[in-house]
Amino acid sequence: MDIPRIFNISESAHRIHNPFTPDKLATLGTALHLESGARVLDLGSGSGEMLCTWARDHGIVGTGIDMSQLFTEQAKLRTEELGVTHQVNFIHGDAAGYVSDEKVDVAACLGATWIAGGATGTIELLAQSLRAGGVILIGEPYWRLLPPTEDIAKGCLANSISDFLLLPELISSFGHLGYDVVEMVLANQDSWDRYEAAKWLTMRRWLEANPDDELANEVRAQLTSEPERHVTYTREYLGWGVFALMPR
Ligand code: SAH
Repeated sequence: MDIPRIFNISESAHRIHNPFTPDKLATLGTALHLESGARVLDLGSGSGEMLCTWARDHGIVGTGIDMSQLFTEQAKLRTEELGVTHQVNFIHGDAAGYVSDEKVDVAACLGATWIAGGATGTIELLAQSLRAGGVILIGEPYWRLLPPTEDIAKGCLANSISDFLLLPELISSFGHLGYDVVEMVLANQDSWDRYEAAKWLTMRRWLEANPDDELANEVRAQLTSEPERHVTYTREYLGWGVFALMPR
């Protein structure tokens, strides 16, 4: 079981697989007033940077589940690097339908809400693991500027304009689901670059080391087109944020 190999190549050097910088992740951890011993569940935990740094900085404990074998291995290495092996553990597996045995204080899914068919389904899934008074974290894109055409939405790698909402609409959608938005930290254009532009050097170095790989042509094509695509579309039109929700 694994994710498409192209992501394991282009994001192999990423610690955060989202348009968030380490300082934004730290800001979010501080904003939540996490208490030592707080239990955190992370679906689609990637290379584990959120759980590992919050374990180091706030003493949280928790579990992450991710379908990428490489990212999960990197997450386990990170627990050793940061000295938090006894606090957090990472499971390589499908997070679809995952509900924790013990209720958690924070149930998170950052940038992987397709796991339960979108933000609404993911909030419902996370709620099943949440203790009364706990917080759900959802990391989700929104339109920073509404694309004037469907072609521009496609340039942002969306299927259509209707894939995402404007920020005020996204915020009000959480209210319609019966949740208070109690905190949020938003990406910006520079933090998008840390996610997207960081893939380019990784891809270039991978191509030099693996010229005959079966994915070399695909990686070459992406490296050629992605910088211009990113600055034309994603960087201008797409926003991203993590929203902290509590049921009303
Ligand atoms: N939350 C992490 C990773 C976000 S990228 C971070 O912020 O760094 C999306 C992640 O979802 C990838 O790590 C990918 O491997 C994982 N993923 C995709 N489908 C999944 C599934 N069905 N179950 C678990 N993880 C999945």
